[in-house]
Amino acid sequence: MSAFPWHRGELSRLLADRGRMPHALLVHGRAGIGKVEFARALAESVLCEAPREGLACGVCASCHWFSQGNHPDFREIVPESALEDDEGEEAPAKAEKAKSLVIKIEQIRAIADFIALTTHRAGYRVLLIHPAEALHPAAANALLKTLEEPPANTLIVLVSDQPARLLATIRSRCRLLRLTAPPRKEALEWLRGEGVAAPEVALAGAGGAPLLARDLAEPPEAELRRRVLAELARPGGADPVQFASGMEKANVERLIYWMQTWVHDLLRVRLAGEARHHGDLAPALKARAQAADVEGLFALERELAAARRLASHPLNPRLVAEHLLMAYNRATVVTKP
Ligand SMILES: [Zn+2]
Repeated sequence: MSAFPWHRGELSRLLADRGRMPHALLVHGRAGIGKVEFARALAESVLCEAPREGLACGVCASCHWFSQGNHPDFREIVPESALEDDEGEEAPAKAEKAKSLVIKIEQIRAIADFIALTTHRAGYRVLLIHPAEALHPAAANALLKTLEEPPANTLIVLVSDQPARLLATIRSRCRLLRLTAPPRKEALEWLRGEGVAAPEVALAGAGGAPLLARDLAEPPEAELRRRVLAELARPGGADPVQFASGMEKANVERLIYWMQTWVHDLLRVRLAGEARHHGDLAPALKARAQAADVEGLFALERELAAARRLASHPLNPRLVAEHLLMAYNRATVVTKP
């Protein structure tokens, strides 16, 4: 378990002074840059029994357990819905429905038992919670109680893309650590190493976040991007009803993501800048930008941001898609008098 190369310096700095390790740490930064991997590497290093220059040795009993996923002094808390994502297979729609998208209060209450025990290895214990913005309000309040009376020898790590959505009282109890994306050159090298076919397009589409870029380059994701952008590029405007009819729940967040990046690019092109995300589609962007209404695009940006906050549990994916594409048409298809 190791952090990505671009975060190793940060990890070493944090571990250099173990005596001053905080009780709680909030690791934040953009999606898709490797924050969770950083937090796991931190946990492994803190638990390691023979750290080398502060970092996990990889060979002691503790490191061995950690790599096997069964270290008794480590807990990772995620929403149920995130549990089987790692398997890589699409979960059947029925099973997906039953899985919770939030971190429940029961999950936080269970921590109490974990914390009450003495550690198995007479050292630290580490609790990793992500994404922290998925904490149910009741769970957040329960966690706050733990943070207010920090247990000894315990490190609680929260990871979040959207720290503004956490309770201010939780944020204020944590040391904040902001992680950033690597420089473009380093990100491209890494993507090539991962076998991504068109790393420049993927990285631009992901706004510079390498892990997100890798995910977006996977064939089903790349196909969804192609479909969404082809729809948004249509000279006469999108066909909301037709497009939305094939919309699946799992794709709503990505639809909104691609609409946000496309609208962001339209504004940049319109306001005399260059596309940030979809430079590979420059002619279509230019054409759509010329026909668009700038105020309308700003309003659409706000609407998409609001939709994104609800997108992890859309009640009706078809209606959400239809509604957003209609809003898009209003902002981009100017009917000549
Ligand atoms: Zn070790």
